[in-house]
Amino acid sequence: MASRPPSLRQPWQKPRAETERERLKAMGRAADRNRASARDRGYDAEWYAFRDAVVIERGCRCERCKTLVVLRKREATKRTPVAHVDHIRSVQSAPHLRLDPTNVRVLCKPCHDARTGRDQGFGRTKRNG
Ligand SMILES: [Zn+2]
Repeated sequence: MASRPPSLRQPWQKPRAETERERLKAMGRAADRNRASARDRGYDAEWYAFRDAVVIERGCRCERCKTLVVLRKREATKRTPVAHVDHIRSVQSAPHLRLDPTNVRVLCKPCHDARTGRDQGFGRTKRNG
């Protein structure tokens, strides 16, 4: 059995655009909550499972500075920052490599912040090789 009803609209049914507007209105705050942050978008349960596995497999250490890292932000301390799994080729430029272990690096938060800033063009003047 098909999971979706046929697309033919009956005369008494509203045009799709109007129905969609009403649906979004009804969702109200829920929709806004789902749109909470850019970081949350595109990072699903599959990503988090993959991310945790990568961090553990690589010994819970930053691949740049070798600092011990933890999986959860709430477990992080000054000496053991939270792990960030960084895409070497961005998800935007290579979506098929999103869950490819060869396309990610485990970084501590400070190293990840430094890299992200550089990639986005911030602090470029401070880069000396
Ligand atoms: Zn580091």
